[in-house]
Amino acid sequence: MCDEPRNLVSLASVPADDQRFPPVNEIAANGALVLFSGGQDSTTCLAWALERFSCVETIGFRYGQRHAVEMDVRQPIRDALSRRFPDWAGRLGRDHVVPLDAWALVSQSALLDRSDFGLRDDGLPNTFVPGRNIVFLAFAAIVAEQRGLKVLVAGMCETDYSGYPDCRDDTVKAMQVTLNLGMASRLVIETPLMWIDKAQTWQLAENLGGSDLVSLIVEMSHTCYIGERQHRHTWGYGCGKCDACALRARGWDGYVARTTVR
Ligand code: ZN
Repeated sequence: MCDEPRNLVSLASVPADDQRFPPVNEIAANGALVLFSGGQDSTTCLAWALERFSCVETIGFRYGQRHAVEMDVRQPIRDALSRRFPDWAGRLGRDHVVPLDAWALVSQSALLDRSDFGLRDDGLPNTFVPGRNIVFLAFAAIVAEQRGLKVLVAGMCETDYSGYPDCRDDTVKAMQVTLNLGMASRLVIETPLMWIDKAQTWQLAENLGGSDLVSLIVEMSHTCYIGERQHRHTWGYGCGKCDACALRARGWDGYVARTTVR
């Protein structure tokens, strides 16, 4: 059961000029904090954590994304998970949303403005947001420390991905070491999707919550880079053209093909 410690204030419920996380004395036993963006991967990670930990909190970041769709679907997904999966409802704790408004002032990326998608000079997609996962993990570690949560769960994957260097296992491992050294903690970063492809991510969702969870992720999660929610494909909503849609669609096709063979 995810007990809610008293005297705590949610970031989302305090005035914008006082968005601090007060210290917590009560340690949430067996608790995890999930980096939850509202996409397919992080929704699957949230279900994975709800299956394993007695208290699961979520964290999301407003960093000037070119659309707000992902952030807007986060709470409806949390509500739907609680409603449709009663065993998980008592484990799902509070949500934290961290504003990182300065990001677009110091960085350029097609995810931060309206640029056309393409490749950078170094060959990386121009949707790469340098330092994003490094900063996210650092903030998540700070919040976890304040909340007494010992595990971070994140959806990075280097098996079937866009090549972002901060999605690599070595980056995450190095961050775990750095955070624990710098904060004198014993935090563990779990990345359940790191070594599976997108088809296996759909399969993992099925293993965790059956077809109900797969349907929930198809219908409610959002992956498309441009925020397209008009066109409904078999794999969910999106433009169907951007790299994020392409990865999601290819994974879905692979999942369906494997399911059909069984
Ligand atoms: Zn798209």
